Amino acid sequence: MGLWDTHMHTAFSGDCDVLPEDMLATALEKGLAGITFTDHLDWDYPNEPGRFDLDLVHYHKTMDALKEKHPGFLLKGIEVGLQEHLSEKHRALLNDSDFDYVIGSIHVVHRKDPYYPSYFEGRNAKEAYTEYYQCMLDNLQAFHGFDSLGHLDYVARYGMRHLGKEAGACHYVDYADLIDEIFRFIMDHDISLEVNTGAYRCDMTEPNPSFEILKRYRKMGGKMITLGADAHHTEHVGLHFEKIADELRSIGFTSYLVYKDRNPEEMPL
Ligand SMILES: [Zn+2]
Ligand SMILES: [Zn+2]
Repeated sequence: MGLWDTHMHTAFSGDCDVLPEDMLATALEKGLAGITFTDHLDWDYPNEPGRFDLDLVHYHKTMDALKEKHPGFLLKGIEVGLQEHLSEKHRALLNDSDFDYVIGSIHVVHRKDPYYPSYFEGRNAKEAYTEYYQCMLDNLQAFHGFDSLGHLDYVARYGMRHLGKEAGACHYVDYADLIDEIFRFIMDHDISLEVNTGAYRCDMTEPNPSFEILKRYRKMGGKMITLGADAHHTEHVGLHFEKIADELRSIGFTSYLVYKDRNPEEMPL
């Protein structure tokens, strides 16, 4: 039995043009246990305003219809782009919707997306990443009504691209205090840590977060993880899941979580 891919985009996301039906067909072909669609909702996205405003009415309608056709295989989630000033809006939205699963992600750090080189302009990795982790912690404190914290070291995905692989590497020891505080916070609030294999399509050799950081989480007592390939194209559905599962088992994880109706279900790794 394959694994469940709980992070996947479709044409409902501003950076993806694949139909949900095509993602679904690929997941079935690949023998995954199931999938959760998690299209982007990044309100007030600074670089291109409106690009990641999800059409919620249409999204619910389409996903509910697909779910009905594929019971037990397909779930309806969302990836919410956190920004502190949106906390109230996010709280209201999630109180009033029937998503199975919600990922909270930092895509914007003080009005800048590290996807763009301007985020790194005139500074080194240490400065750029410290600001990112601090921003993540501030956001968690402002709002934490989601199920899993998305791609923890997302900033390094682009730091390595813009600063170079060596200079852009994110070593746990350089951000230990902030990362530990983030882990304590999510563990205290029953939030999972996402293991995101999307980095492999960006020419990286580890997931987000890296194995080193995942080891630290496990060592601190962290057990709740979710798995997502963050696919924006069919060929990335379930990317490197088998390899990741081996690695996660060797770190000491024995299961991962799939959220249904916002409740975690434990699945064996
Ligand atoms: Zn994301
Ligand atoms: Zn994503």
